[in-house]
Amino acid sequence: MKPLIVANWKCNPTTLDEAREILNGVKEGMRDIEKVEVIICPPFLYLPYWVEFFTKKEQKIKLGAQDCFWAENGAFTGEISPKQLLNFGCEYVIIGHSERRKYLGETDEMINKKIKSALKVKLKPILCIGETEDEKKQGKTFKILKNQIQKALINLSTYQIANLILAYEPLWAIGTGKPCQSSEAKKTLLFLRKFLKKNQILYGGSVNSKNAVNYLNEAGFDGLLVGGASLNPKEFVKIVKNVSRS
Ligand code: PEP
Repeated sequence: MKPLIVANWKCNPTTLDEAREILNGVKEGMRDIEKVEVIICPPFLYLPYWVEFFTKKEQKIKLGAQDCFWAENGAFTGEISPKQLLNFGCEYVIIGHSERRKYLGETDEMINKKIKSALKVKLKPILCIGETEDEKKQGKTFKILKNQIQKALINLSTYQIANLILAYEPLWAIGTGKPCQSSEAKKTLLFLRKFLKKNQILYGGSVNSKNAVNYLNEAGFDGLLVGGASLNPKEFVKIVKNVSRS
């Protein structure tokens, strides 16, 4: 299986012109890259413009959303359903990102419902889990991760679980410029493998072109979830190229 690199643009950029620039930069830089699977998750509002940039034939970059709601439609002001995401060629959806858990009060129960509804329409969920700095200091990392996984996967069949991607993102490493050491990440990955033996498991948290390869080669992850660095097309392409050469 090819390594997977997911770009999480979060609430960026502020204009469509900038979004076009980033996409064009990535598309241009990815011309000769075959050995890596790349998924870009822009804000919802930019999803309809995707078709402008990538015809089906040349679409080696796949499209994902950063969240979805659990119902198919209805009186849920402001929400976007998994089925609606299909209209714009989305194949993946990030669920349970720590920023949503923290700023929007997303619970494990909500995350579980979102995963089920995404899988129902064959959108591939990228479930994010991770411990805070305090939890790490208190030696609770594994307990927290186990709890997040178990609650997110309640009442999912083995078949459903097989269609899910996991992203381990220690909160203290997200957007801080202090990535988790690959040796430490490796230990966590071994723990996560007890629960998800065959799924793709990604690392996320201050990934850049210098450290990207370590998470795959030294720690053994199947790919990366990249936030800040994915907004700089040159840096993002460098990450993809380094992984493809490794
Ligand atoms: C993220 O938001 O998922 C993330 C990993 O961000 P960053 O790469 O900026 O740490």
